[in-house]
This record gives sequence, C-alpha cells and structure tokens, in this order.
Amino acid sequence: TTALLWFRRDLRLDDNPALQAALDAGHRIVPVYVHAPDEEAPWMPGAASRAWLAASLRALSAALRERGSMLVLRRGPTERALETLIEETGASAVYWNRLYEPAVIARDAALKTHFKQRGIDAHSHNAALLFEPWEIETGQGTPYRVFTPFWRNARARLRDGAPPAAPARLPAVPHLASETVDALLPAPRPRWDRPMLADWRPGAAGAAEMLEVFLDDAVAHYKTQRDLPDRVGTSRLSPHLHFGEISPRRLVAAIQGRTWPAAVEPHVETWLKELGWREFSHHLLYHFPASTDANLNPRFDDFPWAPRDNDALEAWCRGRTGVPIVDAGMRELWATGFMHNRVRMLTASFLTKNLRQHWIHGARWFWDTLVDADLANNTQGWQWTAGTGADAAPYFRIFNPVTQARRFDPDVRYVRRWLPELDALPDAAVFAPWEHADAARLAPDYPAQPIVDLAQSRDAALAAHDRIKTAR
Ligand code: FAD
Repeated sequence: TTALLWFRRDLRLDDNPALQAALDAGHRIVPVYVHAPDEEAPWMPGAASRAWLAASLRALSAALRERGSMLVLRRGPTERALETLIEETGASAVYWNRLYEPAVIARDAALKTHFKQRGIDAHSHNAALLFEPWEIETGQGTPYRVFTPFWRNARARLRDGAPPAAPARLPAVPHLASETVDALLPAPRPRWDRPMLADWRPGAAGAAEMLEVFLDDAVAHYKTQRDLPDRVGTSRLSPHLHFGEISPRRLVAAIQGRTWPAAVEPHVETWLKELGWREFSHHLLYHFPASTDANLNPRFDDFPWAPRDNDALEAWCRGRTGVPIVDAGMRELWATGFMHNRVRMLTASFLTKNLRQHWIHGARWFWDTLVDADLANNTQGWQWTAGTGADAAPYFRIFNPVTQARRFDPDVRYVRRWLPELDALPDAAVFAPWEHADAARLAPDYPAQPIVDLAQSRDAALAAHDRIKTAR
C-alpha cells in the first residue's frame, strides 16, 4: 500500500513521527510538499520566511534523494493537490505532523473530514512540540495563563530517551510530475535574500550543526551571555525550530545525552526554560487563537494608543529613530532576518511605549522580516513586551533604551556594527548621541535628535496606562 507523507513545517527526516508511523505501517511513502500560502491568511508567510523556506525545501529534497526517495512539489489548493496525488499513486492514507495556527488548524480539520468521507486514512502526529498544547493544564483542567506554573508542570513531565533518527534508506517513488522550488517560490529581484541568508544554513544538517556548536561552547555561559547582543551567546536555532528542521525532542535528548559539569547545569536549565517559553507560546496560541490580533488582556482594549503614525513607523522599520540601540536592532533585522532577543524587547518597547503605536504594527513588520517569524512566539513576544499579554511584563516597566544599552552593550560593539555613521563618535557618546555637543559634526548622517523625547514619552505612556486603570 502507498501513503502520502505530507510535509509542512516539519522539514526533516530525523525524529519525524508522521514518517515513522507511515514506515511502521509498512507503507510505500510518497513525500509531498504543497505550496498554498494563502491558506494561512491572514498570517501568510512573510518575505524572509519564504526565502528560508525555498532553501529548506531544497535541503529536504536533497536529503530524500540521498535516501532513494524524492520530494514531490505541488501547488495548492491543498485539498485538490493531495486528491490528485492520491489518484495518481493509488494512496490509501495520508500522514502529516500537526501545526497550531488557527487558520491551519481549521484547514487541516476540514481535510481530515474530507478524507474520512473518501475512505482515505488521515493520521496526524506531534512533531513540533514537547507537549501538545492541551496536554498541560492546571489542576482545574483549564489552560495556563502564567508561564512559571506552566513550565513547572511541563518540566516535571520531561522524560529521557532518544527519538528515532532519520532512516538510512526510503522506498523509491514512482515517476510523478513535480514543480520546482524556483517555480513555487521565485527568487526575489534584486537578490536581497542572498546576503540575508549568508550566515545561515537552512535545513536539517545546518540545524544539527548549529546545535553542536552551541552545546560545545555557548551553552556553558548561556545565563550570563544570552543578554549580550554583540556575541553569539544563544543557539540561533529559532528559524530551524520554526520550520521543523530539528525537533525540540532532539534538543532535549542532546542535552540529556551529555554529562554536564555542576557549574554548567544552571545554564543548561535556563536554556531548557526558553524552550519552555516556546511551548507556552504555542499553548497560548492554541487556547486563545484570537490573540494573534487582539489583546490577550482585554483591559487593554480601552488603551489610548496614539493614532497610527506612518513617519514614526517608517523611521522605526528603517532604523532611523535616533536611538542607537533601537536602530541597531532594526538594521540587524533588515540585514540578517534575525534580531537578538534582548534587542527585540527594546525595539518593541520603544514602539509600543515611547511611540505608543499599537503592537500589531510591530508584529506585522517582524512577521515580514524575521527568518524565524512564528505566529505563536511572535504574538507572545509582542503581547508580553507591550504589556497586553497573559503573563506580560507589567506595563509600567518601560525599558529605558539608553540604560539598557549601557548595561548590555557596554563596549558599544553591537551598535557600532550596525550603525557605521556613528564611527567618528567616541564610545561614551554612542549611547545617547544627542547629549554630545559635537554629535552633529561627527555623525552628520545620523538623526540629531530621537524622534521622540524618551522621558516625556515614558511619562505619557504611564499616564495613558493610568487612564485605563481608573476607567475600570
Ligand atoms: P535561544 O536563546 O537559544 O533559545 C532557544 C529557543 O527557545 C529559541 O530558538 C526559541 O525557539 C525559543 N525561545 C527563546 N526565547 C523565547 C521566547 N521569549 N518566546 C518563545 N520562544 C522562545 N521567537 C521566534 O522564534 N519567532 C518570532 O517570531 C519571535 N518574535 C519575537 C518578537 C518579540 C517582540 C520578542 C520580544 C521575542 C520574539 N521571539 C520570537 C522570541 C525570541 O526573541 C527568539 O526566539 C530568540 O531570540 C531566538 O534566538 P535563539 O534561537 O538564539 O534563542
């Protein structure tokens, strides 16, 4: 019997439960990827995501070929594409791994019903998470809204054991028509994707390599170095995790498979906790699907955001706000498709608190420009920073970008890397150039003043927050 193995964002052969289940059932497997971005609307993959996806599909396709199989690429709509392939191959079953975005859940549920009516077996599995979002619940059987008890519960359930590795060989696939990656995901013109992806290696092999590098080195200092944006103190696995090029179970098994010196254990535990935040974000997305566009904390529905300010938004997106650490972050994002987590918090806080622009504007920009753009993590990151989330930073904790830069980029190495127009400024002046008498002469190409007064805008944000406090 033949089964379709429908790849989505599980672009790997290692620890792939759908693949394993299809093999265990003795099927001849036909791997397929269907390109149907509009089915993910209103959160269709952004430009940076599409560039990564193209490279990742090439890597998966090569890995399948090496094992005697191939990846059949088809164009959506998904139902029609899979139906056609079922007719062409005589497949009796479809296997896939689950995703948790509301639009995708709805599409997949409809497909399952459709296949059932047609007498085709449809099997879905969990490849993306350590725990299904519905497996972790409070004593009352309700979803968690606070991270710490969520993770305490989930952490205690983590078990040892290595997941299945990629099979060495796969059954051959009969001759079938296939699109090319280039046809489905045409390269952008001009080729901005090339410099963006220069430091990355999309695909499962790149992910495995990244993990090894991290475990051999940075994890031992993670707690202290993860907040310093001038160095690689974190794993940079987020795009690989988003596209399912490596599984969270593989990460946990890799951690558990090594003996860590006692001094390193707290660092390892802190990193596991970050994987816990990823789980928590998916838990929130699953239980509160409206949160991609609406405040998780409804109290903020009355919050007096400033009217949409296109000039301010443009300055923020392009890294021209006049606040160096914010601008450095936005330029890093534009150039590399990535931004350091600490700087994500600072740029998001600046947009939502100092500029008092609605968090959705920032979430949308990140969505289009991040290679790790992920609906669960991005929504949670923005709502947390804006203070509108479930377990959010209290609204009144407004980051001061100057103090933060002094603390986390004390040698100004990060800012200097991304803002060459500040080259002639002495280090001490780089944190807040507008306070330096000679800045206009030494850095003529940089905004002379921030687009908003940091102290005044902070007070205005606190006053705005007081208004919703007293309104209830
Ligand atoms: P590491 O520190 O090595 O952590 C390991 C993994 O844990 C990450 O790869 C990621 O999958 C997960 N993780 C770490 N921190 C968080 C977090 N705070 N929330 C959820 N998961 C986390 N992350 C995304 O993957 N996609 C996004 O679209 C995204 N948008 C964000 C937007 C804002 C405003 C903020 C503040 C954070 C956002 N994050 C997002 C979370 C975080 O910034 C990135 O996951 C992290 O910087 C990725 O770097 P890393 O892989 O080196 O992380």
